[in-house]
Amino acid sequence: MTYDQMAMQTAEVATSHGPVNPWVALAYLISGVFFILALRGLSSPSTSQTGNRFGMAGMLIAVITTLVTHEIASLPEILAAIVLGGAIGFVIARRIAMTAMPELVAAFHSLVGLAAVLVGWAAYLNPAAFGLLDAGGAIDPTSKVEMGLGIAIGAITFSGSVIAFLKLSGRMSGSPILLPARHVINLGTLVAILVLVGMFAHTPGAEANLPFIIALTIAAFAIGFLLIIPIGGADMPVVVSMLNSYSGWAAAAMGFTLGNTAMIITGALVGSSGAILSYIMCRAMNRSFLSVIAGGFGADDSAAGGGEAREQRPYKQGSADDAAFMLEQAEKVIIIPGYGMAVAQAQHALREMADVLKEKGVEVKYAIHPVAGRMPGHMNVLLAEANVPYDEVFELEDINSEFAQADVAFIIGANDVVNPAAKTDKSSPIYGMPVFDVGAAKQVFFIKRSMNGVGYAGVDNDVFYMDQTMMLLSDAKKMVEEIVKALD
Ligand code: NDP
Repeated sequence: MTYDQMAMQTAEVATSHGPVNPWVALAYLISGVFFILALRGLSSPSTSQTGNRFGMAGMLIAVITTLVTHEIASLPEILAAIVLGGAIGFVIARRIAMTAMPELVAAFHSLVGLAAVLVGWAAYLNPAAFGLLDAGGAIDPTSKVEMGLGIAIGAITFSGSVIAFLKLSGRMSGSPILLPARHVINLGTLVAILVLVGMFAHTPGAEANLPFIIALTIAAFAIGFLLIIPIGGADMPVVVSMLNSYSGWAAAAMGFTLGNTAMIITGALVGSSGAILSYIMCRAMNRSFLSVIAGGFGADDSAAGGGEAREQRPYKQGSADDAAFMLEQAEKVIIIPGYGMAVAQAQHALREMADVLKEKGVEVKYAIHPVAGRMPGHMNVLLAEANVPYDEVFELEDINSEFAQADVAFIIGANDVVNPAAKTDKSSPIYGMPVFDVGAAKQVFFIKRSMNGVGYAGVDNDVFYMDQTMMLLSDAKKMVEEIVKALD
């Protein structure tokens, strides 16, 4: 095919969304390449900063290109929206606690979903402004399919994310709400949405197809709600990453409606990376993706911090001095951080403790569970913030066999990720999740505030009562600072 033939073909494709300026197309393509490089960089902690910079460069190019072309809205309107949205985002980002990140992410996804719905409706109500009218003055069926799917996925993302936000922030119970015949209702509604999209696309005339687009929007809002209410708190991390994926597909669908390649590329990147992350998290929790989506996990109300009356069993309690003494004698220490370290903000004190131990000739490693904390990568971010060297940080499958050679397993604010019930107790809500074999270490230190507190899954933990376990009951930061003092 010659260059001219290719150009003609491109021009033909471009006509359904109005003429595409080749410079704009090139700029969007470059920003897409930057986003791909960003994802590549973010796949490893050591290259993540470069990855972030690539992402920022890609976004800058995309924003400048939009500002220069600004076909749909005027420049002052776009700038006003940026200033307003940026100011709100800035204030929220400054105020939010690290531990509330998952609910913030869920809230942000809801906005992406809502934006997709609004863009879809705007394109439907004012197709001329979006360059969607064909020679006969109608919206062609392909554009209507894109529009319908974008609105549907956006609406599902919106209502699903709102429910995830309410569950994660504790404004709604984390336990699953199970409607009778929910699978039939959900499947029926999904099929109805697809049929409505088809009817919307094939019915000519705005007056005739208006009922279909209204019905599909309402049905999609409803199904987002119905899909997420039966999912228990323990599966919420997967849900958040799944909604992240949906928000990407909603943006990609809108990219087709608007003829915007940058949106198509970034939407597809977000959609596919969110789906891959959901899959990795399901594997880390040993849950099948389908069973998470089907919901019902944790229906006994013990999941998501439900708590339960526990039998009193004997345990050993120690002090910072005891811990410091034994840590000094150790040759190899493996630290397992968890959600409590994030709550206490103990990462800096922890690195200081590791530095002192290393000076004394002790080998120190950090073991990170894929779902430790309350969001993917939570522990990695905190340890990186405290300048813990990347080569001391290991993932579950790389370090689990080393506990047998470790003198000390030092658990700081982790709980579910070291709970052996995941391997032994079929009735446990975390059964099947791979966990650290801390019991194989000669000595275990377990930092938590009290014996009453439970982990996210709300279940007791046999590690508290093992012969070699010493409970260090205190705020994590305070305890580690005291250990550092005692080591000095
Ligand atoms: P857990 O939630 O199981 O346990 C947290 C522990 O920290 C508790 O023992 C708690 O006990 C202790 N703690 C809390 N505050 C402090 C403090 N200030 N000082 C000392 N200890 C403290 O944490 P894990 O990281 O082990 O497990 C993560 C769980 O969260 C998993 O079940 C996972 O499925 C779930 N999850 C993960 C997400 C992710 O994406 N990573 C997202 C959402 C949920 P006490 O109260 O007695 O101090």
